[in-house]
Amino acid sequence: MIVENIPDEFKKALPILEKIREVGFEAYFVGGSVRDTLLGLPIHDVDIASSAYPEEIKQIFSKTVDTGVEHGTVMVLDHGTGYEITTFRTESTYQDYRRPDKVEFVRSLEEDLKRRDLTINALAMDDKGKIIDLFDGLKDLKNGIIRAVGNPEERFHEDALRMMRAVRFGSQLDFKVELDTFNAIKKNSHLLEKIAIERIHVEWVKLLLGKNPKQGLQEFLDTELYKYCPLFADKYAELKSILEFSDFKLNTEEECWTLLSDVFKLKDTDISNLLRSWKSSNNIIKYVIAASLCVQKIKDSKLDIETYYQNGIEIILTANQIAKIRGFGMDDNELKINYDKLPIKSRKEMKINGKDLVQEAGVKPGKIMGEILNKLEKEIVFGNIINDKEILIENAKKLLEEKV
Ligand code: ATP
Ligand code: MG
Repeated sequence: MIVENIPDEFKKALPILEKIREVGFEAYFVGGSVRDTLLGLPIHDVDIASSAYPEEIKQIFSKTVDTGVEHGTVMVLDHGTGYEITTFRTESTYQDYRRPDKVEFVRSLEEDLKRRDLTINALAMDDKGKIIDLFDGLKDLKNGIIRAVGNPEERFHEDALRMMRAVRFGSQLDFKVELDTFNAIKKNSHLLEKIAIERIHVEWVKLLLGKNPKQGLQEFLDTELYKYCPLFADKYAELKSILEFSDFKLNTEEECWTLLSDVFKLKDTDISNLLRSWKSSNNIIKYVIAASLCVQKIKDSKLDIETYYQNGIEIILTANQIAKIRGFGMDDNELKINYDKLPIKSRKEMKINGKDLVQEAGVKPGKIMGEILNKLEKEIVFGNIINDKEILIENAKKLLEEKV
């Protein structure tokens, strides 16, 4: 098969392929970018595989960066764009289910494609757009099939993350995991315990953000992969309940965790525990706790001015996305209009600050000043006082008299 309209991302990189070939080595586009081109999807990064060893690549190009020479990867800088060129390699003898003990550079494309995880990820494309398809990846692409390259059990023993990747790509592309591959995942799902949470996390979120998250989730449950994910082992019923929702699309990682928190009926510390066990950042944890509270408020019709002000529209919209999935969502536009009506969006927009209070209202720095600022802020937000410097100073003076 020949790709007639090579996307621009590849065209720009063609001189690099040509330069490598001129010197007598082979070079191909490989991996996700080839798969996505054939699917008509946007391309993320253009990966190049070559028979040239890293040292040889470095001799061919003047500007290179050692991004992972020990794995065979060198980045070539070309007019401001970086291209990762990885030497064809095999990964021999895996002992810990996650990392090859030894990476061996080889000169054969076939050997390189053999070590890749899925048939749809094991396609290569040459400089003429010709597809090299040694494992029937094109057929699987056409039929929407996720299939391990070679013997699935062996491949999952080599690297157990591949099981999560299989299910994740199933959701992402709306493809089905082929039966032998499925059975091998089910039989070996426990090997996922060997994999670093951070890596599982990436795949899990991509699964939920996929085109068909319900199908991915179904396979995640049916293969029992969920049992070996942090704090999921006893959440089968809750996770399965997501399959009952009508079709939905999640757009951000924050939405994913807010949905899970809601389905698991978690509050503050439990949300924090769950996300911490998945090694999420503190920012996400804070965000999801806030969004979860907002989901509850939408549900109870208690979304008040203060909630809008304290959380901001982004968190509210995240919460509403989950509320919609659960069947009690509001109209996004209505939420935006309500938010826009707030007289101020943050304390920074107040027309006075602590310094003004000292200079013009005789307030001393300290606890009382904080209390006065809080009170004024609240009154502005509720529309009880106009956000005008003079008016605020007057009110501050009154508050000061009441306090002292
Ligand atoms: P994405 O769009 O998510 O980046 P991708 O297919 O490009 O998808 P990457 O993780 O960027 O995925 O990997 C690039 C390529 O490297 C894959 O297409 C696949 O050929 C190979 N690969 C990645 N991870 C593995 C793995 N764990 N085992 C075997 N091959 C892998
Ligand atoms: Mg990629």
